[in-house]
Amino acid sequence: MYSHVHGVIGAVTYTATYAATGSHIAAGFVAFVSHFVADYLGETGYGTDKLFLQLELSHLLAFGTLGFLSGHFWLYFLGWLFGNLPDLIDKRMFLFYKGQKQYFSCHNHPGIKIGKHRIGIFSFNDWKLGVPVRIKFDRDETIALGVFGTAVLAVWTYAIKLGWIL
Ligand SMILES: [Zn+2]
Repeated sequence: MYSHVHGVIGAVTYTATYAATGSHIAAGFVAFVSHFVADYLGETGYGTDKLFLQLELSHLLAFGTLGFLSGHFWLYFLGWLFGNLPDLIDKRMFLFYKGQKQYFSCHNHPGIKIGKHRIGIFSFNDWKLGVPVRIKFDRDETIALGVFGTAVLAVWTYAIKLGWIL
């Protein structure tokens, strides 16, 4: 799934978990796990870089604005970050220094053999959380899902403003 959808799910799970437990560690963990669950949803590429930038930048701007309006910008930011962390690690963006040949992949890592079993992050032998994709969206549905994500975040932000969440 695209980063925007991971960001929305991450922000909602992070703020909800933080509201319930008061713990950033618990909130970060839940948002991190949400990434793998969300990967049961498969996206289809937008097709062009131009459309990708138009959509993802618009969503990102909306995300930041809603985070600001919520009064909990940093919770939204951390939710986005932890919700996207598996992809950020796998894609080696900023988490690893230049020139490093080996890196840890939490997504595609086959796991470590312990005795007869292979155990990885949310994987056990041939079972892996979020893999394979259960619901595959075509391109139009992927675009609609992104818009839906922003709409959900708008409603969530309003609920926060009303004091229903935190
Ligand atoms: Zn992913």
